[in-house]
Amino acid sequence: MIVIMKPNAAPQSVESVLSYIERHGLQTHLSQGEEVTIIGIVGDKTKLPTENLVSYKDVDRIVPVTESYKLANKKFHPEPTSVTVGNTRIGPDSMTIMAGPCAVETEEQLINIARAVKKSGASILRGGAYKPRTSPYSFQGLEEEGLRYMQEAGKEFGLATICEVVSQEAIEAAVKYVDMIQIGARNMQNFILLKEAGRSGLPVLLKRGLCATIDEWLNAAEYIIAEGNPNVVLCERGIRTYETATRNTLDLSAIPVLRERTHLPVIADPSHSTGSYRYVSPMAKAAVAAGADGLMIEVHDNPACALSDGPQSLTFGKFEKLTSELKPFCHLMGREF
Ligand code: PEP
Ligand code: MN
Repeated sequence: MIVIMKPNAAPQSVESVLSYIERHGLQTHLSQGEEVTIIGIVGDKTKLPTENLVSYKDVDRIVPVTESYKLANKKFHPEPTSVTVGNTRIGPDSMTIMAGPCAVETEEQLINIARAVKKSGASILRGGAYKPRTSPYSFQGLEEEGLRYMQEAGKEFGLATICEVVSQEAIEAAVKYVDMIQIGARNMQNFILLKEAGRSGLPVLLKRGLCATIDEWLNAAEYIIAEGNPNVVLCERGIRTYETATRNTLDLSAIPVLRERTHLPVIADPSHSTGSYRYVSPMAKAAVAAGADGLMIEVHDNPACALSDGPQSLTFGKFEKLTSELKPFCHLMGREF
């Protein structure tokens, strides 16, 4: 349920509504727009006599929120949220490119890739140090050593950094080295991990689960925010369908649907969704046109020899071409890039 205050409601009126709700043992969530203030209510509504609330000074109306996610809900927070990651920001008006290898392989490899992606306009360096691979015999990542290389490469080129975490132990290591953590598709409904990510204090990129509905995805975001961490960015990375021509199916319509339902930033991953470097560029452009706030793109110095996801990784040349072609799309969408 949300309480919508009258335009330009007095601060004392907002204060008394907040204390009335909190006195009844419920939590409040304040969203102060330019003119209108909205108070979101979380908790057992049966404890709250709303008939008294409507007669409070400057209360305009009370609207029920039927969705199970509240803090991630646009009704609670109509203004779009911007999430700060290191020296950059993900949100409306800009285009954030996260780029880098699927997995951190060597220090030299990462430095070379970081230099190239920075030159072509990326602002966040991605690289996996804990790899949730389909086969237990595939390369599993360099773990803490990989995180250390991420930190060094980020510092050297002025890039913010993001790394996937798969356990509490990985989160504890990641907070020492990187600016943002990623919850991968396979862990989107690992509720214990989501809570731990919420308590990490770092911004979180939450990828959509392989078979998750948008509603389930937003509830996963709610788990993180409910721990006191509002810095969540959603990443559409393709879902499983009957189609086998691509690795997954990039659900581009999720972007405008999410725009209606949540205030959180949304980015797209044309690499994991298509599984082939040939489709990355057209789907990246389509995602920008659909309203994405950013893109996650895998880039490798030598895709043919990559330890993971080589077939979908862009070479430096292809990445450079893509970012230069993306510029007019971003400007058309009113985004700086
Ligand atoms: C990744 O970003 O390297 C990754 C494994 O992504 P996803 O969880 O989307 O498969
Ligand atoms: Mn990958």
